[in-house]
Amino acid sequence: MTSHVVSGPGSVAGKGVAASEALLARASAVIPGGVNSPVRAFGAVGGTPRFVASGQGAWLTDVDGNRYVDLICSWGPMILGHAHPDVLRAVQEAAARGFSFGTPSENEVALAEEIVTRVEPVDQVRLVNSGTEATMSAIRLARGYTQRDVVVKFAGCYHGHVDALLASAGSGVATFALPDSAGVPKSSAGETIVLPYNDIAAVEATFAGRGEQIAAVITEAAPGNMGVVPPAPGFTEGLRRVTRDHGALLISDEVMTGFRCSRSGFYGLEGPYAAGPADLFTFGKVMGGGFPIAAFGGRADVMALLAPSGPVYQAGTLSGNPVASAAGLATLRGCTDEVYDRLGTVAHTIADAASEALTAASVPHTVQWAGSMFSIFFREGPVRSYDDAKTQDTEAFGRFFHAMLDHGVHLPPSSFEAWFVSAAHDEAAVEHVLEALPHAARAAAGR
Ligand SMILES: *Cc1c(COP(=O)(O)O)cnc(C)c1O
Repeated sequence: MTSHVVSGPGSVAGKGVAASEALLARASAVIPGGVNSPVRAFGAVGGTPRFVASGQGAWLTDVDGNRYVDLICSWGPMILGHAHPDVLRAVQEAAARGFSFGTPSENEVALAEEIVTRVEPVDQVRLVNSGTEATMSAIRLARGYTQRDVVVKFAGCYHGHVDALLASAGSGVATFALPDSAGVPKSSAGETIVLPYNDIAAVEATFAGRGEQIAAVITEAAPGNMGVVPPAPGFTEGLRRVTRDHGALLISDEVMTGFRCSRSGFYGLEGPYAAGPADLFTFGKVMGGGFPIAAFGGRADVMALLAPSGPVYQAGTLSGNPVASAAGLATLRGCTDEVYDRLGTVAHTIADAASEALTAASVPHTVQWAGSMFSIFFREGPVRSYDDAKTQDTEAFGRFFHAMLDHGVHLPPSSFEAWFVSAAHDEAAVEHVLEALPHAARAAAGR
């Protein structure tokens, strides 16, 4: 425990964690586990989660006054960095005109237009409040469209905490090594088939047996919730071919990759496919710029089934919220080619240095990529599936994580998560990370 709060020379951390500990104690009395999303607890790495008081650009400041280069970036949304002036202005202007109306308003139209313009196969979107709602609604829509019930997902892919999609899920479910979630009805889990990722033969065999019952295959466009495991060449194309041949829909979950991997998400890197695009897409994270807004969308004839034009019900009191829409629009408009270039440069500089430091310390590891999105597995590569990802040395990661934290760099507190960078990660922030890495690599090695 004490070793977790000792800081190295030149550290910008080092002010202790008394205030975070006090807040955690207060929080634990009124919030289960003291957190509102499980991955925020340091369950897999031990120690005290830092309560953050403010964020500016690439940096977080916690309630004890420690400063960290942020490599969580709110798990993806803060692609322009914290409190970006253009986004802040858009939010302030929108908020000054009122927070929520429960009527249609212009900002939501502009945000929908921006998404539809960027992702070519998406004709229409419906705005919702979280990625979970987006995948939940996309599944309902696919079931309504096909009049079938069964959904296929892949082990290690996380699609939010939707009942039917929690089986063998990534993210926090992987971090805490949970088999599945309690409270999911057998009937719901029974309508879900879980297959190994990157195994098209398993998909073909499943469709050969139960093809007429399957409403949809849902997949992360490039999984990032078991660590980054990109689709093998031809895998996405294979999913498209098999689903189409059996009258099922393909749902591409771009909640994490959307507008991060490229201006049109992972689709912009891997598509278009000879067999055609996915029928439905889900988005979140970056498109809200840090506010609770997400979307699902796709082919116009499928989207036409949604209420009020069709029989598939879906709704939301705060959906398309004008302030959140303004934040999302300002963020997407800020995602210029220069921003994507900068993300690539920052990610590669950090990943290369991390790999070099781990190699120097003889720590087995592999870096995997989906565009400029990356993660480091604490095992030899390649990692092609959740079974592969699960065999990494999570204890070595825990030591690595805490040494980084002590040296003022906040990684996601799990080895099953991507490391997120922003365009605000300037030379000073990157240099700070590079200085921390050799210390952390030695800690990972147990030295
Ligand atoms: C984060 C995430 C979700 C869930 O989004 P929430 O806003 O947390 O509900 C769904 N799918 C993927 C791929 C994600 O990364």
